[in-house]
Amino acid sequence: MTKHIFVTGGVVSGLGKGLTGSSLGRLLKARGLRVTMQKLDPYLNIDPGTMNPFEHGEVFVTDDGGETDLDLGHYERFIDENLTQDSNSTTGSIYSSVIAAERRGDYLGRTVQVIPHITDEIKRRITRLASDEVDVVITEVGGTVGDIEILPFLEAVRQFRLDVGRENVLYVHVTLVPFIGPSSEQKTKPTQHSVTELRSRGIQPDAIVCRSDDPISIDLRRKISNLCDVPLEGVVNAADAASLYEIPVVLHEEGLDDHVCRLLGLDDHTLDFEAWNQLVARVKAASTPVRIGVIGKYVSLPDAYLSVVEALNHAGIHHGAEIDLEWVQAEEAEGLLAAGRLRDLDGIVIPGGFGERGIEGKIAAAAYAREHNVPCLGLCLGMQVMTIEYARNALNLTGANSTEFDPRTRHPVIDLMESQRDVTDMGGTMRLGAYVAQLSAGSRVALAYGEEVVSERHRHRYEFNPKYRKRFEQSDLTLSGESPDGRLVEFIELENHPYWIGTQAHPEFKSRPDRPAPLFRTFVAAALDRAAGRNPQLPNVVESIIDEPNVDGPGVDADLAAAEKS
Ligand code: GLN
Repeated sequence: MTKHIFVTGGVVSGLGKGLTGSSLGRLLKARGLRVTMQKLDPYLNIDPGTMNPFEHGEVFVTDDGGETDLDLGHYERFIDENLTQDSNSTTGSIYSSVIAAERRGDYLGRTVQVIPHITDEIKRRITRLASDEVDVVITEVGGTVGDIEILPFLEAVRQFRLDVGRENVLYVHVTLVPFIGPSSEQKTKPTQHSVTELRSRGIQPDAIVCRSDDPISIDLRRKISNLCDVPLEGVVNAADAASLYEIPVVLHEEGLDDHVCRLLGLDDHTLDFEAWNQLVARVKAASTPVRIGVIGKYVSLPDAYLSVVEALNHAGIHHGAEIDLEWVQAEEAEGLLAAGRLRDLDGIVIPGGFGERGIEGKIAAAAYAREHNVPCLGLCLGMQVMTIEYARNALNLTGANSTEFDPRTRHPVIDLMESQRDVTDMGGTMRLGAYVAQLSAGSRVALAYGEEVVSERHRHRYEFNPKYRKRFEQSDLTLSGESPDGRLVEFIELENHPYWIGTQAHPEFKSRPDRPAPLFRTFVAAALDRAAGRNPQLPNVVESIIDEPNVDGPGVDADLAAAEKS
């Protein structure tokens, strides 16, 4: 019987419920349990795909093309499992299923209501992740207890325990214990209120994870235990950790996984946490500074680039480097470059994005990197921008552009795929999910990956325009990876440059803390070499692209099925 853990949040949003659940997932996996995770989001959008990154942060893309909440990125990075779109359900998608069933006549003329029809659909979604292959499903309920929108989820989750048996369900509540300056005290009252609210919905938490700036005292824990009716060992303190990847260690030291396993009858599994401890030791040891500029449109909300930042960090951990991020607003990039203000960057990342704003700044950054031998990695839109830059400035294709930004450009080097031209619906019309690419033998990207057939995730409408293929093939810019049928350009790289590589994919989504995405790993190596060149006190990274194939990745075979659609 699959066990279910539900993670709710109280007091305020943004407490790191997703990271708490992910960390618990990691601890259970380290006990040899098979874990999967999902998020229930209480908003009406069918998925976050149509939301502005300022609203929602990054849209995380799964292998099967799901456009999902960024917490799924945390789940994948921590439990090291590829999830599917089934791991994210929104209120919108749940209502949409129920209303479609009503239109089909599935309810046989009965009145369709929140209870039981919406709650049943929520329970169906929770159950569909449980299988013979899964020991534990961790379900995070988005939002905060006390929100109106969250009520059907809490009711479904409450009923779930009765449906599958008390011994198979556990509730973890994540709350805040704030420090109040004037009285110099940490306060438990918000936690008490939030647990009272949860109990008024019929859910008694089995464990409370208290977030706080500084560690909380045993007396305070006792008080919370007493007032919230949770045994002392179930009151766990997650004080702010120096890095994300230390959170599982903190929660383990606090005894969360022991408590959870005891209650769920899973305590015959012993923990082997050596690998994760080693990772944390490497995180702490990573100290060689390297300055990476991210030229983006949504830089005032770094969550919009969460997986890019994490992939850079993974590469940093691998090389013992500390990534010092410089967020550059794309519209300001041209001015900053001209004023020499970005001269000390060791590497430039041009991430994905949509719409025209900031495009010329990104093009200027790509040009600067190309002309000044600064390592540059272009991701999706970033690759498109590099293509435009090269077309304009190296191939003299004046006014070259993407038809996304200039539909009447004389040189549409980036254009819509034929099949996308007549699409008007904004939801789910993109090339989404994992696709296989064939890399050119001996190319830098092939050397970085250590293989010639690779699979990466996509999320875009526009593509390299094959009409310009010949012009590029005669130049220094190599089209070094393409779709298996040869129609789509997936990777580009510049000869005679330390590192100027772009990909139409988003390799950041598959990066893992102990297995950095190959292009990020080699990009940071190149940036470190530049840093060492500028500052001879820093060690030189000789890894470079050639020595280290991506030996232990999940392997292309596993992705082939998902990518068949290409
Ligand atoms: N806007 C571009 C496209 O739709 C790039 C998308 C992206 O960077 N994810 O093709």
